[in-house]
Formats: sequence, C-alpha cells, structure tokens
Amino acid sequence: MRGLADRVKDQGERLQTRVREVVGKALQSRVGEDPSWDGFLVGLGLKPLAAARRLELSSQGVPNLKGALPIEVRKALDAIRRQSERDLEPLVEELTGPGTDDDGDAEGCIDRLRRDLAELVDREMQEYLVKCRPKVTLSSIFANAQMTSVRLGDAAPDVKARKCTCCGAARPEGTDLRSCAFCGNDFFAVAAV
Ligand SMILES: [Zn+2]
Repeated sequence: MRGLADRVKDQGERLQTRVREVVGKALQSRVGEDPSWDGFLVGLGLKPLAAARRLELSSQGVPNLKGALPIEVRKALDAIRRQSERDLEPLVEELTGPGTDDDGDAEGCIDRLRRDLAELVDREMQEYLVKCRPKVTLSSIFANAQMTSVRLGDAAPDVKARKCTCCGAARPEGTDLRSCAFCGNDFFAVAAV
C-alpha cells in the first residue's frame, strides 16, 4: 500500500484532473442547449438548467461570453470540491488514528490539499471568466482591471455593490439576491484572509 502522504498527493492530482475536465468541457459548451454538457452535469449529480433559462441568464450577464454559463461551472466545480473533501475524510482519520506513523509529511500534504480546496472554486471561476471572454488580450485585461479599480475606488459604496465583483455583471437594483444569478458569486462572503 502506498504511504499516506503519497495517497493524499494522488488525491490532489485527481482533483486537478477533474477541474481541468470541468473547465475544458465548459469552454466547449454552447450557450443554450448542449446535451453533452447536460450529461456531464448529470454525471456530477447536478440538474442542468433549461436552455431557455440559460439564454435568459446569458442575456442579463456579461455579454459575448463563450462556453457554459458561469453559474453552472461554479456548481460543477463545487460538486468536485465537495467530493474531494469527502474523499479526504478517511485519509484524515488514518492520520489521526492509532498506530499511524506519519510517513513523508502526510499532515503537511493534507493541510495543503485543504487550503487548495478552500480557494479552489473562486480561483477557478476567475480563470474561467478570463478564458471564456474571446478576443481579449492579456494586456487589455490588466489595463481594464486597473481602470476599473480606479473607477470603483472613486465611486460611492452603493455603486460598487451593484456590480458583481467576480464576473462584473450588473446586479439588479433593489435586489435582495444573496448571490450573482450569472456566476453564483456570494455577495456577502467575507474574503478569506
Ligand atoms: Zn457574478
């Protein structure tokens, strides 16, 4: 049997493979009807949105994005994160159980995987939102980000709150939505320090 540290590392690699699979499939997906993406979501235990709902959300969100709707990508990433957390439990029990001799820093590997899992969804969403914007160069993204931060910095707080900080989609005024309908970003989440 492989040592505990190696098995934790294996799990981390499986997680990365699955994340790449989600992002790859999502980028290939069409907006609206896409049986292949639907089947992939069902395989993760998720319920795909109806094509009409997808078109409605995509018309309200960030314009001209290719690939699957960000809200569905977030749910797919979250399903993979939860599965990985469940898979990690028996390994943690093994570490804390009797008669464990901690080979090759299993505890450190578990800590790293846990930290990775904690930030996985938000990090991958940011990357996905960049990847699914076609015909935008990296330098223009940075230029844009700088301009945006200057403008947001000058703006009144209530103006800032009307744009999703994750995808930039407008947040309907007077809404009490707790999360972005387009990308699933939690508006009230306190950033992890
Ligand atoms: Zn959003």
